[in-house]
Amino acid sequence: MIRFSPMTTEMRKLVEELCSPACAGRKPGTKEGDAARAAVVSALRGAGLDPHEQPVPGLRGANVVAILPGDVERYVLVGAHFDHLGKLGGQVYWGADDNAAAVGILLEVSRALAAKRPTGRGVILAAFDGEEPPHFTQNTMGSIFFACDQAGALPEPLRDHASMLVGMLESKLA
Ligand SMILES: [Zn+2]
Repeated sequence: MIRFSPMTTEMRKLVEELCSPACAGRKPGTKEGDAARAAVVSALRGAGLDPHEQPVPGLRGANVVAILPGDVERYVLVGAHFDHLGKLGGQVYWGADDNAAAVGILLEVSRALAAKRPTGRGVILAAFDGEEPPHFTQNTMGSIFFACDQAGALPEPLRDHASMLVGMLESKLA
């Protein structure tokens, strides 16, 4: 069993960085989007992974992907998107719950798996770009491009897909 504390220093640091003015809104194709991606790459490297960027055509952004091989040529995918809406009407949409917090969880899962290599199926850890409108459900959506681009590239088709969304804001707070 893998155990980790609910909020590590590294996880908090990444979530705060993704929600900082340098990454304001994390819109793909902006310098803030680039800064967010760089933060994710750096954090995953710090967790002991070897992430690479997968540019998504037409998006001016890129997924961040790391692979931990297992004992068999099958993979489980753990994914969370790191982009958000950017600025709308002069207002920054910070996207802490959608989806910086889940990227923090992805980081901690990555760290735990990197420290104790998976047995059985390997694990693909993916931080997707371009998951918000206008890219949502389009060919420029990071996870759609990833799925299409990987078709035939992996020895066995991807069997499982675990995606995460954390702390959605309720319309009425108690
Ligand atoms: Zn989202």
